[in-house]
Amino acid sequence: MANVRSVAIVCGDGIGKEVIPVARDVLCLLHPEYELFPVEVGYERWERTGEAMGDDDFALLKSADAILFGAITTPSVPDYRSVLLRIRKDLDLFANVRPVKGDGFDITIVRENIEGLYSGIEEVGVDRATTLRLLTRHECERIARFACNLAGNRTLTIGHKANVMKSDVFFRDICLHEASVAGVNCNDRLIDALCLDVLLHPASYHVIVTTNMFGDILSDVAAYLVGGLGMLPSANIGEHHAFFEPVHGSAPDIAGRNVANPVAALRSAALLLRHAGDIPGSDAIECAIQTVFSRGIKTRDLGGSVGTKEFGDAILYELGLAGA
Ligand code: ATP
Repeated sequence: MANVRSVAIVCGDGIGKEVIPVARDVLCLLHPEYELFPVEVGYERWERTGEAMGDDDFALLKSADAILFGAITTPSVPDYRSVLLRIRKDLDLFANVRPVKGDGFDITIVRENIEGLYSGIEEVGVDRATTLRLLTRHECERIARFACNLAGNRTLTIGHKANVMKSDVFFRDICLHEASVAGVNCNDRLIDALCLDVLLHPASYHVIVTTNMFGDILSDVAAYLVGGLGMLPSANIGEHHAFFEPVHGSAPDIAGRNVANPVAALRSAALLLRHAGDIPGSDAIECAIQTVFSRGIKTRDLGGSVGTKEFGDAILYELGLAGA
């Protein structure tokens, strides 16, 4: 549990500008004592100023007790360095936690967040391009211990591709060792088979630990279980910083039309409150989402017709009724 007084609010690009204000209003209602301050980073800022994130912006993010983040568009411009990868690395946010909950299943995907194929160690030449898949013992042990701790009495599943990559033999064996030291019940699956089996038998999985890109893919796959990308939140956790964001990206195809589903952003705010130790506040957000759904109030991606803002108003109304 962390002491949270100040929260940096980063809307970012695309639908981040629509879903984050909904989540911010809920935080304002539940915690009027929080100091919420906006920080502008992202592709739109880069287009305007030539810089996606200034040193001052990064210092502001670093100063916050928690960060609520929307989404950032990463263009395929040669010199553009991903802001999100920089923040994860520089704030040492080593664990990406993605809960996927539904009828009869409760899965938490724990993704190693700063190495693997997203290590950023790359070279592009005329005739070949390489990306180094770096896995260090330190990070593998750290993520394995984190996942074991989260699993407790539940089963831990390791997702890997050890039949093809030696780096995943390394990862799998470290995870198996840490699970045995922690006394956590553990099994392992090849990541491609795991992607399918999670969809077929979601109740068989509890906590899944995997490497960076596999975790990115697995969580998008698992979004199918709960109605799509608009539903899944994530927490990026480090030893000194915490950062909460929807799993989805900036979705330029639907941006600016008030149709984006703000549930992932609301659930990210709920994870932030859980991190801050406000379990009742976190539960109240989930409860309000379920009540609003039960009234048939849903955004377009879930077969409904209300807009992002109207969905947010319904949540605020519900939380108001509940005496928040
Ligand atoms: P990134 O590369 O950052 O992941 P992307 O545009 O490839 O970005 P997403 O933004 O994650 O991928 O979204 C993929 C598609 O899923 C979007 O184009 C959009 O149609 C849909 N989608 C994502 N988030 C939402 C949301 N909150 N509400 C409704 N639809 C969404």
